[in-house]
Amino acid sequence: MNKELVAVYSDKSVYHKPIFGTFDGINRPSYDLPQRTTSIIDALQDLKAVTEIEITYPRVFGMPFIYSVHDQGYVEYLKTTSDQVAQKPPILVPEIVNKDTKETVIREYPAFTTPSVFPHGNNPRAKNKEAIKGTYSFDTATPIMANIYEVALEAANTALTGADMIATQNYTLVYSLCRPPGHHAERSKMGSYCYLNNAAIAANYISHQTGSRVGILDIDAHHGNGTQQIFYEDPNVYYASVHGDPETTPPYYSGYVDELGEGPGFGYNTNILLPKGSDNEKFLDALDKLIFLLKQFNPNFLIVSLGFDGFKTDPCKVFTLTTDAYIEAAKRIGKLGLPTLSIQEGGYAVEDLGTNIAAYLKSLKSSHS
Ligand SMILES: [Zn+2]
Repeated sequence: MNKELVAVYSDKSVYHKPIFGTFDGINRPSYDLPQRTTSIIDALQDLKAVTEIEITYPRVFGMPFIYSVHDQGYVEYLKTTSDQVAQKPPILVPEIVNKDTKETVIREYPAFTTPSVFPHGNNPRAKNKEAIKGTYSFDTATPIMANIYEVALEAANTALTGADMIATQNYTLVYSLCRPPGHHAERSKMGSYCYLNNAAIAANYISHQTGSRVGILDIDAHHGNGTQQIFYEDPNVYYASVHGDPETTPPYYSGYVDELGEGPGFGYNTNILLPKGSDNEKFLDALDKLIFLLKQFNPNFLIVSLGFDGFKTDPCKVFTLTTDAYIEAAKRIGKLGLPTLSIQEGGYAVEDLGTNIAAYLKSLKSSHS
């Protein structure tokens, strides 16, 4: 076993620049800022000075690894729509610069597209461009920009590179800096800032390459509806998530306790809900329960869907966690002693993101047995 800690990232991730999501008819700036990438990369470089960490870049894996998780038509839609958006002129948006005088300027933004309608029922005859946009999305917070196919595929390859290292190269601790994040992306739908499900693509790869069981522990403050959906009937991948109560927290439609898996996958899906504003103690208690269940499942590999948006200063305002929660979580995860791939999900408190990731990785490395 190679005990070294490895971080995988791509320089392309910084070019992922979603500008707006549309809420209640208003364009709202996206929280998924490119500064998230630079904050993490800076922290990884600083970490190098105090602990042994190898930094590497993603390899390119073939499309079959993507198509075995996502519907091929959906992935092709991402590509063709990215290409079409690249031909569009910039979007001009009037913005009030002085609330008192109502002085307005016109700002220019790169083109993007979001759905205008969503499927009324599931009618395969609906081939209209607008209908297809709605079919392949579940919200209006997730714009398609000209480079979205390129950056989403790069994030998936970043996850696959990490997956291959723990599955076939004897590495024990790998962190994949995936941006855009992935755990909300369903088999054929983008949403909540996610386009391709990086963690699911990695878990599927490990499961198929090694024929062994994979546990996914999702500690992002939101429910990973996409990961749950993709493995809902799969007994070889156990999805365990702690997240904000869907009554108050996106993606709202999933993440309840009675979602337990189906068919052969029944019993291999666990959701623990916490109320808004939950603190370190509640979060870590929930984590302990999930770790207990994961131990019963006895996986050969672990994937952590690593989101930091439960942090106290995060604009998502779900929990009130401090850095200590992530240090302690890493300690408990490390004690499982499994080959572990941590995949970046959310976390939008840019000032604190790098610090939290460095603290998590340092703690994970020192506690891994
Ligand atoms: Zn999140």
